[in-house]
Amino acid sequence: MTTLLNADLHCHSVVSDGTLTPEALAARAHANGVELWALTDHDEIGGQYRAAAAARELGMKYLTGVEVSVTFVGQTVHIVGLGFDADDERLANGLRQTRGGRRERAMEMADGLAKVGIKGAFEGALQFVGNPDLISRTHFARFLVETGVCKETNEVFRKFLTEGKPGFVPHRWATLKDAVTWIKDAGGMAVIAHPARYKFTPNEEFALFTEFKAHGGQGVEVVTGSHTAAEYVIYADTANEFGLAASRGSDFHSPAESHTELGTLPFLPGNVTPVWEALASRIQ
Ligand code: AMP
Ligand code: MN
Ligand code: MN
Ligand code: MN
Repeated sequence: MTTLLNADLHCHSVVSDGTLTPEALAARAHANGVELWALTDHDEIGGQYRAAAAARELGMKYLTGVEVSVTFVGQTVHIVGLGFDADDERLANGLRQTRGGRRERAMEMADGLAKVGIKGAFEGALQFVGNPDLISRTHFARFLVETGVCKETNEVFRKFLTEGKPGFVPHRWATLKDAVTWIKDAGGMAVIAHPARYKFTPNEEFALFTEFKAHGGQGVEVVTGSHTAAEYVIYADTANEFGLAASRGSDFHSPAESHTELGTLPFLPGNVTPVWEALASRIQ
């Protein structure tokens, strides 16, 4: 199957930390020429029916999607799930477990920020939350921009929300094995999201790919809003070395914040097997 498909298989709605509804995202993807779309909210599949219905109305092909937070050798890794059965109970239960604890973590983040003079961050972040189950660092970032503490969300992450900074609270997410198994057992494909973003040593990265594959993972994002053109080439090779299919997705969150617009990335390189080949029967 061709790699020359305008597929966008990674983006976020108000159901997690995006600012647009699933319907608005579908319309935007369609307007930008997306031919195959997936909404991949963090740890939550509550937007899947709306996204699929909106895509159907527009005549745009759809794959179910999710982005699961995983802890692997002390770092957060994201695993995208595509083409699963959105009614699968084990997947829903696993994601519910993963979401649990975000509220407590957010309160600890607010305590950390209060210590450096930023008051009311918990309540402030909550104003930006679309799903009370899913308070994320992004919502704190929006609050700190709105109140003028920082100019843009990136600056908030750099100064306050990353390791060693006052608002950072590490979280224990799902295990790699659990995330891959939930997705696979629900009939879907597990895909390593934006691999160049992690700060792993070469040995740790090798372990991630090896264990992911051993648990039944089948894909890796090659062309994503988080990669440079040089990284497309590197991870196309990695995909082929590990026998993984390649995915493409913008990771779009918001018109105001995202530097990569839906459906505007380059096509996948010609030397990979696209994820939509093995997922053909799961396309709605
Ligand atoms: P959380 O799941 O609460 O740890 O929040 C993670 C989210 O923060 C990611 O999904 C991104 O949307 C966002 N994020 C992480 N790093 C940055 C950054 N440097 N600039 C802007 N947003 C970021
Ligand atoms: Mn996000
Ligand atoms: Mn991610
Ligand atoms: Mn994402």
